[in-house]
Amino acid sequence: MKIFAYSKALYSTWLYLEPLRLLLDAGEGLNAALEGRLLAFRDIVISHSHTDHFTGLQNILITRLREMDVAQQEMPPLQVIFPEDSSTLWRYFDYLKEVTKPWDELVTLVPAKPGQVVPLQGVRGMHLTVLEANHYVHKQTALAFRIEKERWALRPELEGKPQSEINRIVATEGREAIAVRQFQPLVYYSADTRPVYHDENEGIPLMIHEATFLEPNNKVSHSCLPEVIELFRKQQPRLMLLFHLSTRYEFKEFTKLLEELVPDEEERSRFYIVRPGRVFSMDIPTPGL
Ligand SMILES: [Zn+2]
Ligand SMILES: [Zn+2]
Repeated sequence: MKIFAYSKALYSTWLYLEPLRLLLDAGEGLNAALEGRLLAFRDIVISHSHTDHFTGLQNILITRLREMDVAQQEMPPLQVIFPEDSSTLWRYFDYLKEVTKPWDELVTLVPAKPGQVVPLQGVRGMHLTVLEANHYVHKQTALAFRIEKERWALRPELEGKPQSEINRIVATEGREAIAVRQFQPLVYYSADTRPVYHDENEGIPLMIHEATFLEPNNKVSHSCLPEVIELFRKQQPRLMLLFHLSTRYEFKEFTKLLEELVPDEEERSRFYIVRPGRVFSMDIPTPGL
């Protein structure tokens, strides 16, 4: 899966999952880096209301408005998924409504809370499960997300039955009578958070996890690299993409600690890093996508 990203803790974070046409957070600078790709966006998630995660939104809308004007072409409204109790984001959207018109043609707001499942617009059959992050945001909820693919599996009691009988049930009772809908986890996005364990993340193809600090500090609501590696070993994602690194360290201090904590090269090859201050652009092999 082709991923473009930029992330520097406190300053700006965004990740664009191109095949899903999905943007994870919308920090500053993404319009300059992604240019024409902004027009392909279909879904945007804003994890929480810290400014390094959402102030790039206005530029996306302005670029799309300009394109609609120049090309005289309609574009489907962007679905923007965000924490429903975020008064900060509601106020920001009120402002955007004033400066980007026609707002209703540009954006569909989807206020979300943990536990909710939101169908993605970009790819049929893809869903977003909304989770709660462990991050302090002035009494507003911070969200994390899991991207899941819908699939239909034959009901276990029908396994081994002749095809003619299954066809007969479909004809008389419909597809739901023979199949159950399942969700296959594909990508987990932690956003800003302390590490959180989720049963459903076991063996997930790709975990995108923040790793702000090198050393543990219980006073902050972020993760440090040793904790993230512990979570990696518990949950065993196939691959892990680290982002939201703090620039209080040199980048080589970060890679040195990673080498020390994960000495085995095969294990270490499962880690990717969004280096602060650079645009990350890589095709990450993600089964199911
Ligand atoms: Zn942040
Ligand atoms: Zn934050």
